[in-house]
Amino acid sequence: MNIKKRYKQYKAWQLNAFDWSYDENEHHYCVNCENEFVGNHCPHCSQKAGMGKVSWKSVLQSSAEVWGMHNRSLLYSLWQLIWRPGYFISDYINGKRQVSFPPVKMLVIMGVISVVVDYIFKAPDITEEVIKEDSPLLDQYFQWVEASPGWGWLSIVCFFIIPTFCIYRYAPCNTKHSLPQGFFIQVFMSIQVLIVDDLADFFSSYFYIMVPLCYLYAYRQLFGYGFWGNLWRGLLMLISSAMFAILAISITELLTTGPSFADRFLFIMCCAVLATVSMLAGMLISKSLARLKEKREKSKISPTS
Ligand SMILES: [Zn+2]
Repeated sequence: MNIKKRYKQYKAWQLNAFDWSYDENEHHYCVNCENEFVGNHCPHCSQKAGMGKVSWKSVLQSSAEVWGMHNRSLLYSLWQLIWRPGYFISDYINGKRQVSFPPVKMLVIMGVISVVVDYIFKAPDITEEVIKEDSPLLDQYFQWVEASPGWGWLSIVCFFIIPTFCIYRYAPCNTKHSLPQGFFIQVFMSIQVLIVDDLADFFSSYFYIMVPLCYLYAYRQLFGYGFWGNLWRGLLMLISSAMFAILAISITELLTTGPSFADRFLFIMCCAVLATVSMLAGMLISKSLARLKEKREKSKISPTS
């Protein structure tokens, strides 16, 4: 097979990884409950069609299942999250639940794995190098993130929910996504961030540059903007989220210990203004661009009226 054909196949898989179609004329007999049916699964007991006596193939299959090699497996979900992240997330948040391992569970498991990997491979001097914050509360928080990176990263990327919700409201795909959908988008994204975090721990902290790239790649597939449209919205979203996070950190610092309010007033105001302005600017520009496009399409359909 030549490269072009392979690429085409890969593209098709990216858009739609699962084929649930079946032959309507093919009747199956369920060995489990003795029911006759049409389709991929028995409607009475949900056993898969075509299951027969245990064979050598079943030996292989059931051994592979331990490691999660079947359809809804952890590994296949991770594989999809790397190679078709936006489409995969889009499938899930729009109700195609059978395509993925339960995402929050996946995040927690990946978090546990990451702790174990850290424990085995990390040099002991790095773990002691925790940033000393002024505030004991923040100190505790960062220690908690380090101890349970799954929940930790999720709590950090939750700052992305509102900016994403606003800036991508008028996107061509997943238009006006809801906040619960936004939450699950960030659950999937934090799994990616967690993987990047592991790579950074393992190789070099330069790997953190992959975090914005992951977001840009996934959002491009998820919301369907072109290259530049995706780039500027992505950057605004990242700036706005980062500002909200810094804002939350500074306010926590103020409320617990650290400098007086007067010292930090200007800084906090700057963060708040920058966070809000970049978010609202992204949203309003996207809105007017979407309106403009709509008008243009309408005039194309009925040029006489
Ligand atoms: Zn059955």
